[in-house]
Amino acid sequence: MRFLLERVGGLDLEMREKGVGLIFIISAPSGTGKTTLVKEVMDQLPGLQFSVSCTTRLPRPNEKDGEDYHFVSHSVFQKMVERNEFLEWAEVLGNHYGTPRPDLKKLESDGIDIILDIDTQGAKKAIKEIDLPILIYLLPPSLKVLRERLIDRGVDSLEMVKFRLSNARRDMEEAHWYHYVIVNDRIEVAIEKLKSIIIAERCRRSKSLILKENKKKWEEKDG
Ligand code: ADP
Ligand code: 5GP
Repeated sequence: MRFLLERVGGLDLEMREKGVGLIFIISAPSGTGKTTLVKEVMDQLPGLQFSVSCTTRLPRPNEKDGEDYHFVSHSVFQKMVERNEFLEWAEVLGNHYGTPRPDLKKLESDGIDIILDIDTQGAKKAIKEIDLPILIYLLPPSLKVLRERLIDRGVDSLEMVKFRLSNARRDMEEAHWYHYVIVNDRIEVAIEKLKSIIIAERCRRSKSLILKENKKKWEEKDG
């Protein structure tokens, strides 16, 4: 996994000075609370955009097409793959999921940072395609709690819950190469942690720009 760390580590200030939007990748076992957390944080922090993925999975009762996912057929998905329209795509839990390529130029001009909700396979592919994404892994407090959340969510059969749990064990082994790990125990705490990470990364982005502007001001005063 060393190459992953090399790829995502370091800080390219030059690029950040140009105002390229930050890309946050959030992964977690299904049912951990990623959707809930991201929605809350987006309500509370301005300048964030959620990247709406395409999926061949059927919508859940509370999900809206174009908002939670673009729900597409297998043949439409396949055509999008052939036309290279995805930044990454993967098969997760028997369905296909793909991230449309973000319009980085537009993000830059709009000053928007983007959040990608993708699984660990997708994250590995995405970091080869985009520069310096910030990787955040969300953990459930325990597998027991994850099971309860999946059951309480009320959209999966018991068999599917078992399947998701066995995948969760494997998925969590990938958490070590992410930059940040947040345990989603109390939601208010997890919200504060995710907001803090986003704010801190924004500060890192603007560091050299601020120093440059300050230097100019000092020089003007001295002159
Ligand atoms: P994911 O997007 O990771 O699959 P969801 O956001 O759909 O997960 O959350 C799964 C279930 O867990 C939902 O019913 C949600 O309300 C609940 N949930 C999310 N975060 C918490 C939390 N911190 N404490 C208790 N329940 C939570
Ligand atoms: P769910 O069906 O519960 O919404 O999502 C199942 C899994 O698919 C989650 O782990 C989620 O992160 C992942 N996922 C959602 N969108 C994408 C995507 O565009 N690409 C990849 N690789 N995974 C995704």
